[in-house]
Amino acid sequence: MTGKDKRRGPGFETRAIHAGSRPDAVTGSRNTPIYQTTSYVFEDVEHAADLFNLQTFGFIYSRIANPTVAVLEERIANLEGGRAAVCAATGHAAQFLTFATLLEPGDEFVASNKLYGGSVTQFGISFKRLGWTCHFVDPVDSENFRRALTPKCKAIFLEGLANPGGIVVDMEPVAEIAHEAGIPLIVDNTMASPYLCRPIEWGADLVIHSTTKFLSGHGTSMGGAVVESGRFDWAQNDKFPSLTEPDPAYHGLTFHETFGDFGFTMKARSVALRDFGPAMAPMNAFLTITGIETLPVRMERHVANATAVARFLEGHSAVAWVSYAGLESSPYRALARKYLAKGAGSVFTFGVKGGFEAGVRVVESVNLFSHLTNLGDTRSLIIHPASTTHRQLDEDQQVAAGAGPDTIRLSIGLESADDLIDDLDQALSHEPA
Ligand SMILES: *Cc1c(COP(=O)(O)O)cnc(C)c1O
Repeated sequence: MTGKDKRRGPGFETRAIHAGSRPDAVTGSRNTPIYQTTSYVFEDVEHAADLFNLQTFGFIYSRIANPTVAVLEERIANLEGGRAAVCAATGHAAQFLTFATLLEPGDEFVASNKLYGGSVTQFGISFKRLGWTCHFVDPVDSENFRRALTPKCKAIFLEGLANPGGIVVDMEPVAEIAHEAGIPLIVDNTMASPYLCRPIEWGADLVIHSTTKFLSGHGTSMGGAVVESGRFDWAQNDKFPSLTEPDPAYHGLTFHETFGDFGFTMKARSVALRDFGPAMAPMNAFLTITGIETLPVRMERHVANATAVARFLEGHSAVAWVSYAGLESSPYRALARKYLAKGAGSVFTFGVKGGFEAGVRVVESVNLFSHLTNLGDTRSLIIHPASTTHRQLDEDQQVAAGAGPDTIRLSIGLESADDLIDDLDQALSHEPA
């Protein structure tokens, strides 16, 4: 084909660098400035009143919105194919803002039990204290979500590519189940990143990120985001009064009616973020914007390295099993082809022969891998979930979450694959002391 296809919008790589940002209007600064400020001068009293009443867009105070953070919000929304986004201090804060916007005390939701350990604790224990009940289900059978729904359920939540690793959830039928029930599907897309998977294309209504991971990409900055697809009709039933009934804090403004396809984002920002306060710092937004510029090239290398390491482990005599959806042997291979055509990410688990003790020995014997709790770094990371991230769960919950006693989780970084393989090889050959 010659010439440019005029109907084609800019590609993902182009948007990863340009979406949401433009040269600074005052200085010409090509890179997005770090607006390290708490507050913004009003033109006059009327301007201030319009801002406070949400009758005009602009900046008041950085707990609610900040120009650097706003660039990141627009970029993430663009890459996910969403309508709008709001950032938060961490991924957990993004989850909290989401449910605080959707749920009333006494409300319920259904979540996959294949989740980041911290999310299991947040949903199962801390949310419970706020009067929100989470029903956990095994996502392997989509119908489990339907079976767990009650009239009080206001959302379904899952991780498409699930933590600790190697599990792919068939999200399309779950989106249908949610929509039949008149509730949104929320997908945590942290592990895949929008480069590998865009849940909105499969029916998700809200997408959550811990930007701490692949989006910032270098292990430097905590952050979270929630992206709104703009397609969910909050007024189709009476389940979401916070969006469809007049808000007393804004002179009776109704968010869904006033802001339409970005009503959720406006409510999450101007009520939940304003009142609970977990705002993202502008410096972290800057580092995350910079990280996203290289997301496509980083994800390609993450996937290539992870595939090489997973293949090596699969052939190792001290390894009992490897769970990486990029391997031909994975039961999730077909789902990975559907949802993760560019690769199954770089976080996966494997089992060591010798159980808990052997798992501890491996994480204590590596040299190049860093033993810590994070993922999506340029560096390769290792953790034994049963003794760390998932230790608050009992053994049944650990196994249900894919983090049994023999399980080791890797987040494969961008080093030379051969060096990673050599390091694991020597760690796996350590004898009991
Ligand atoms: C890390 C993580 C979270 C929590 O994010 P924080 O930024 O650590 O608060 C949520 N979901 C997944 C899948 C994660 O990996």
